[in-house]
Amino acid sequence: MTKTIIIGGGISGWSFAYYLTQKKPKSQIVLLEEKPSFGGWLKTIDVGGYSFTKGPKFFARHKSKHLYQLMQDVGLQDDIIYASVAAKKRYVYQNQAMHLFPTSLYQAALSPITKKTIFP
Ligand SMILES: Cc1cc2nc3c(=O)[nH]c(=O)nc-3n(C[C@H](O)[C@H](O)[C@H](O)COP(=O)(O)OP(=O)(O)OC[C@H]3O[C@@H](n4cnc5c(N)ncnc54)[C@H](O)[C@@H]3O)c2cc1C
Repeated sequence: MTKTIIIGGGISGWSFAYYLTQKKPKSQIVLLEEKPSFGGWLKTIDVGGYSFTKGPKFFARHKSKHLYQLMQDVGLQDDIIYASVAAKKRYVYQNQAMHLFPTSLYQAALSPITKKTIFP
């Protein structure tokens, strides 16, 4: 029997544990997580009847085929919320102001959110 210790219960750790149990059902797996809950950066909090995601919140399906496959494999594909066209314009609240999230290199070069990354 294979024995595996996985350190870290974020999406990398638990997806590895999931696929390992699929491939080697008899293997013994210990998933170690130092925080009180699993998920790593994946965290949702409920405030005043609204849910807020503190970490990752979106992915492009055509660019993240493995993530989409993982969601299908664990049966989460029906929980995906597809962004409406109305949400194409996204804003980031920074320094007490709303800023349009850049969607092109040109916008990124001008945006206060990203221009320091491009022109350090
Ligand atoms: C604010 C933010 C927004 C993001 N938005 C997106 C997004 O929209 N779309 C997207 O695709 N990605 C996004 N990302 C990136 C995405 O969150 C990460 O790529 C992904 O969550 C990393 O997962 P992971 O399991 O590799 O690491 P982590 O989520 O960091 O998990 C690692 C886990 O290991 C545990 N650990 C570490 N050391 C030890 C130890 N010695 N012993 C035991 N446990 C340990 C930690 O406590 C943690 O739970 C975002 C990231 C951030 C920070």
